[in-house]
Amino acid sequence: MREDGAIGRGVIAIDGPAGAGKSTVAKRVADSLGLAYVDTGAMYRGITLLGMRSGISPEKDEKKLAELVRTAELKFEARPEGLWVYLNGEDVTRAIRQPEVSRQVSYYARVPSVRQLLTSLQRELAAAGGIVMEGRDIGTVVLPDADKKFFITASVLERARRRQRDLVQQGYRVTLEDLVREIEERDRLDSSRAMAPLCVAPDAVVIDTSNLTVDEVVARIVAEVGVL
Ligand code: C5P
Repeated sequence: MREDGAIGRGVIAIDGPAGAGKSTVAKRVADSLGLAYVDTGAMYRGITLLGMRSGISPEKDEKKLAELVRTAELKFEARPEGLWVYLNGEDVTRAIRQPEVSRQVSYYARVPSVRQLLTSLQRELAAAGGIVMEGRDIGTVVLPDADKKFFITASVLERARRRQRDLVQQGYRVTLEDLVREIEERDRLDSSRAMAPLCVAPDAVVIDTSNLTVDEVVARIVAEVGVL
């Protein structure tokens, strides 16, 4: 906490659209600055998997979803390698990366009770400082007083190519065309929702990573952050 009571001191917010390379970059920045790293997308994915497994539609059964989220045992553990997610005691860290979860997550992330719950959890995680938090609304809504804010983006085609590479490595087969469509749809949903839409905070540093390597992006952020 800063002297003025605001969350601050070693709090870095990194936002941006799907597939822009935020997770890789945020993890590396956290490592090089000795800060904790929290991927808030993994939290939304955890709730999505929970809803999908319970057969609850985010559009039709908002009340049931709110009740389920309230009663389910959803645990998050910030590790240096990323955020570990447990659902009723089961490690679902890998399962939340399934393409079906990626296709559904923006629908669940639009539900106000889901956002309220995760936003307060995220603020708790950041309260002690010393953290890099990555997502869609971190600099705008979750941590508006963050010391430094970045918005990382890239062209849709480049983002689709990167996602395809990741998915192939995990053993999934997906076409580039399908990924372009899916990313465009996710951008549309994330940017147009009523609550906490994806947008650039006025005080964020915008970095287009289309023609930059991960090392270059990390170096740029670390240089901007300077000494916290
Ligand atoms: O970062 P990732 O692609 O894993 O995020 C999955 C989805 O979770 C996003 O497309 C978005 O719908 C939602 N999300 C969000 N707010 C955040 C982080 C993720 O709405 N802070």
